[in-house]
Amino acid sequence: MDGPDKPILLVALGGNALIRKGEKGTVTQQFKNLVLPIRQIARLSQDYRIIITHGNGPQVGNLLLQQESCSVVPRLPLEILVAQTQGQIGYMIESTLDSQLMDLGVHIKPLVSLITYVVVSEEDPAFSRPTKPIGPIYASKKQAPSGYPVVKTAKGFRRVVVSPKPVTIIEKREIKKLITADFIVICCVRGGIPVVREERAIQGVDAVIDKDLASAKLAHEVGVDIFVIATDVVGVALNYRTKEEKFLRRLNIGSAAQLIAEGHFADGSMRPKVEAAVQFVHDGGKRAVITSIEAIESAVEGQAGTEITL
Ligand code: ADP
Ligand code: MG
Repeated sequence: MDGPDKPILLVALGGNALIRKGEKGTVTQQFKNLVLPIRQIARLSQDYRIIITHGNGPQVGNLLLQQESCSVVPRLPLEILVAQTQGQIGYMIESTLDSQLMDLGVHIKPLVSLITYVVVSEEDPAFSRPTKPIGPIYASKKQAPSGYPVVKTAKGFRRVVVSPKPVTIIEKREIKKLITADFIVICCVRGGIPVVREERAIQGVDAVIDKDLASAKLAHEVGVDIFVIATDVVGVALNYRTKEEKFLRRLNIGSAAQLIAEGHFADGSMRPKVEAAVQFVHDGGKRAVITSIEAIESAVEGQAGTEITL
């Protein structure tokens, strides 16, 4: 099939695509871990046009730790750190993809990783309530860097930032053109760099955007057919981590919305994934699947994960 005839697949990769639980997260480990999801994506690129998005929690956490341990160079705002991780993770995915494609005998396949801005609204109620913990964990409030709101989490004290909803992806036209030409596009790392519009200019803000919600927005804006959210569990469970735990194979958007309202999914982890899947299908997408990194190909074939449809 030629580029424009192939359906479009968006794969949102979770943090475990780069760093597995219990690992330190050396660059060698990150490159090694990437092979599993990227090899599957390389194979899928023969039948699908591909967009890859990714989270950046541990990577931006390390940059924050680095800058908070050093008083010689000026501190960088969060949006610059997000931009740095877009370059770093884009490079790692792109180079792994390139070698996996070559292993498959595909020598000419255009790839691009794109710095991505995502518009948020100054009116978003999230701006009055920072909720998302980021960066290093401190044993006491005193040890945490000054000048930022800090909360006590289960692991210790952490800086918190606001997490507004994505309104639109600034580069959606460019991404659409690139995938029409059958480029594999890596973008929206960490939900994109959050910006607000000021008349015709854009201005970065100290916030983070959920990568699954940003991916759903992008998927709608560029007309994605299948949206796969790949993480470290096989799918969506009811009564997660209890004796009555039950993984679900299929959900329609009505029952998924009801389960969200009943509080089955944890804030900041599974809830935004189910919300993103519902949003995508509600906006006209054909099928969303929440699955594990191991089962990306099976999920695309309809053989794994939790499928969310109309
Ligand atoms: P990612 O980096 O892929 O975004 P997250 O940690 O944010 O990963 O989300 C995946 C996690 O969601 C799983 O590891 C699991 O512990 C958690 N989770 C919370 N509620 C549920 C649920 N109902 N079903 C399955 N997983 C759940
Ligand atoms: Mg997450």
